[in-house]
Amino acid sequence: MTEILQLKAREVLDSRGNPTVEVDVITKDGLFRAMTPSGASAGQHEAIELRDNDKKRYLGKGTLNAVKHVNQVIAPKIIGMDCKYQETLDNVMMKLDGTENKEKLGANSILPVSMAIAKAGAAAKELPLYGYIAELFGVLPQVIPVPMCNVINGGKHAGQENSIQEHMLMPTGAKTFHEGIRMISESYHHLSKILKETYGAASILIGDEGGFAPQEITSVTDRFDIMLKAVDNAGYDGKMKIALDPASSEFFYDGTYKIGKKSFSGGELVDFYVDLCKTYPIISIEDGLAEDDWDSWVEITKKLGTKIQIVGDDLFVTNTARIKKGIEIQAANSVLIKLNQIGTLTETLDAIKMAHDAGWTAVVSHRSGETEDTFIADLVVGTSAGQIKTGAPARSDRNAKYNQLLRIEEELGEEAEYPGIDFRVDHLA
Ligand code: PEP
Ligand code: MG
Repeated sequence: MTEILQLKAREVLDSRGNPTVEVDVITKDGLFRAMTPSGASAGQHEAIELRDNDKKRYLGKGTLNAVKHVNQVIAPKIIGMDCKYQETLDNVMMKLDGTENKEKLGANSILPVSMAIAKAGAAAKELPLYGYIAELFGVLPQVIPVPMCNVINGGKHAGQENSIQEHMLMPTGAKTFHEGIRMISESYHHLSKILKETYGAASILIGDEGGFAPQEITSVTDRFDIMLKAVDNAGYDGKMKIALDPASSEFFYDGTYKIGKKSFSGGELVDFYVDLCKTYPIISIEDGLAEDDWDSWVEITKKLGTKIQIVGDDLFVTNTARIKKGIEIQAANSVLIKLNQIGTLTETLDAIKMAHDAGWTAVVSHRSGETEDTFIADLVVGTSAGQIKTGAPARSDRNAKYNQLLRIEEELGEEAEYPGIDFRVDHLA
């Protein structure tokens, strides 16, 4: 038995300068610390992130109530328990909360405890975190993911209205993760050069996820053209694919999608994506449709689902009840995985398992508001998910995850597998 000796939360800052919750767990093996991230284009169906709503502190975004819940409600229950019983401990917290969406204690109080306990459990078993998660999940940890790097930020992450949120590069032509990261970094710096030369210095200011946020380029095709030019200039033509996260719930109003000055019905937007896929090397579209527009999701999956990855983020919110429905009606073929959308590691692993059992892919993801915690790097290796979305290769809240993956790849040595284009599930072309 490795007893949880102490458990303590505090309020700290995230990458946007907003408060978030950090938790320390102490066992005989030492101190284990975790922090919860925070979304901006968060889905309606996510577990609740508790904010104090006291306008006098942090414009209402304080997290002192969530901190209090850890210190006064969760800690007394789980101090003294064995940190190696992840599922039991997560269940204790879920019971303490007792609601469907964790609105009583807040997912931002429960999740950092769940993550810190996992780190303590790994140490107790003398395993690296990815190895411990792999044991919980039931796989051999070998797959180092293909990164989805958001090099042009739009939408809410760049202070823009009615705009596509994420324009990502995936180094599918690399042989290893470290080669892929180098390709991404070099392309990113070529992109900076082209943007500055073409549009001036303001165009290389960056958004929440480290990608450039050129306000002048509002057309998605112009954004793709400049990204591909950068890839070409870096010498990687043909070795990089495009992934897209429109985050379309953010530009869906009363049944109509609005991108820039154009309006689309669900069907018209699906056809817009179909046309984009004819011209550009797109291999993944996330949240192409809004979080409750199930019919249009079924339509996009019918039209594109055998060719590319169709990823549900706001649609599924890492919640097995919603993923189950999506599998039944074939509304996608992939699930975006965000720990704080659901609130515990155990439920997150269940969501990935459900996706894999259906022959779907799972993409482990950061949030736009991040921290220095690198948990998701270990999570993606520990579940063999094969893909990680964690921003541009810029700013340490993003690079911390890439750097941890570089370390894990080195540690695995010959055992490490980089899937490249084979990240896709069998039914994809
Ligand atoms: C996303 O939409 O995939 C994302 C990372 O953004 P946020 O964290 O703002 O929800
Ligand atoms: Mg998304």
